[in-house]
Amino acid sequence: MKKSIFGIFETAKSNLEQTAIRLKLEDAMLKRLLETKEKIEITLNPTLTNGKHIQVKAFIVRHRDSLGPAKGGIRMSGNVTIDDIQGLAMEMTWKTALIGVPFGGGKSGICFDPSGITAEDKEIIIRSFTRGAMRHIGPEIYVPAPDMGTNEMDMGHIRDCLAYSWGKSVTNGCYVTGKPVILGGILGRKEATGRGVAYTTVAACEKQGFDIKSARVAVQGFGNVGSIAAMIISELGAKIVAVSDVTGGIKNEQGIDIKHLLSYVKQCGQVYGYPLAEKCSNEDVLTSNCDILVPAATQSVITAEIAENIKAKIIAEGANSPTTPDADEIFDKKKIFIIPDILCNAGGVFVSYLEYTQETQREQMTLEEVNSRLNNRIVGKFNEVYDYSKEHNLTMRQAAMNIAISKVVEATYAMGILP
Ligand code: GLU
Repeated sequence: MKKSIFGIFETAKSNLEQTAIRLKLEDAMLKRLLETKEKIEITLNPTLTNGKHIQVKAFIVRHRDSLGPAKGGIRMSGNVTIDDIQGLAMEMTWKTALIGVPFGGGKSGICFDPSGITAEDKEIIIRSFTRGAMRHIGPEIYVPAPDMGTNEMDMGHIRDCLAYSWGKSVTNGCYVTGKPVILGGILGRKEATGRGVAYTTVAACEKQGFDIKSARVAVQGFGNVGSIAAMIISELGAKIVAVSDVTGGIKNEQGIDIKHLLSYVKQCGQVYGYPLAEKCSNEDVLTSNCDILVPAATQSVITAEIAENIKAKIIAEGANSPTTPDADEIFDKKKIFIIPDILCNAGGVFVSYLEYTQETQREQMTLEEVNSRLNNRIVGKFNEVYDYSKEHNLTMRQAAMNIAISKVVEATYAMGILP
C-alpha cells in the first residue's frame, strides 16, 4: 500500500483548521489549539533480562487541559514519533470533550516494538518509562491508559511502580486507567472501545435505514478493538465477510465465525492462513464487497486512492485517525456515512473516566452498570452529532469536530486571561 503524505498530526491539524473556518474561530484561538501545551522527551536506559543495556526514547504530550487533566493512552511501537503523539493527543482533546468527560487531551509514546519481546523485558521497559515519566503523571496532570502496543498488565505495572516508589500500597487517586480489575481497574474497560464501536455502528445502521442483521461487514485489525467489535456485531446477526491484521487478510462471502477465528488467532498468532477463509491482502479487506467497514488497525490507512475503491456504505472508525483528509472529501462526494474516530472509539476513554471516579469511591461498579452507562452515553452522543450534522448540513466528522472544539473553546474563554 502506498504511504500517505498525511501523518496523524497533519490529519489532526487539517481537521482542526477546517473546523476553525466553520466556527469562525479567532486566529489567536486557532494558534493556541494548533500548538501542544507541553511535550516532553525522555530517554530511558533499561537493562534487559539478557544483560543488554538499551536506549529507548519516550514522549509525553499534553495538548490541552481546559476541560481537565490530560487523558490518553501509551502507544508502544518501533516507529512512533513525537508528531504522531502530538496528533493523537490533539485527538484526545476533542474525543474527551465530545463524549463529555472532564479531561483534556494527552498521549505518550514509547519507541520500542513490543512484538516478540518477553513479558519480563516488557515489564522492565514499562517500569523504566514510569520512573522516567513519574513527574508528569497524576490524577490532576496526565492519566495514561492502554493504546496500541500496551495492555492492562502494563497499566498494572505502572500503578505498582508508582505506589512502590512512594512506599505505599496504593496510589492516592487514579494515576492510570485500564488496570487489571484486581488492582482497582473497572469491569468491561478492556472491551469498552470495541463495544462502543459496535453500539455506534448499530445506531448508524438505524439512521441509514438498514438492518444490522443483513449487513456484511469487513474489519481491518483484529486486536483488542477490531476483534471485540467484530464479535459483538456478529452476535447481533451481521455477517463478517473479511478480516485482516498486520500479517494479511482473509475473506469469505458466507461469513467468518468470529469465535472460531479468535481461537485460531490465540493458537497461531495471526488471522492470515485461517483455513475456513480465502487469503487476501489488507487492501482487499478495505475495498471488499461489504456494507460496513471497520478500520480498527492503525492510522492513515484510508487514503484518497483507497477511498475511491471502497464499497461500504458506513465506515466505523475504530482506530485513531484511519482516514486522511483527501479520502474524507471522496467519502463526502460518495455519500458514505462516517462514524468519526473521536465518537466511534470514545467508549474506551469513557469507561476510563468511570474507572477514574470508581477509584476515589473505592466501590466496584458492576459490568451491567458499566455497559449500560457506556451504551447510553455513546448512543446519546451519536444522536447529538447526527442531529447537529442534519441541522447544519455537515458530515458526521464535521459535526463532531464542531461540537467538541466549541466546548474546548468555551472552557478556554471561561478560564479568562491567564498570567
Ligand atoms: N487509547 C485510547 C484512546 O485512544 C484510550 C484512552 C484512555 O482511556 O485514556 O482513546
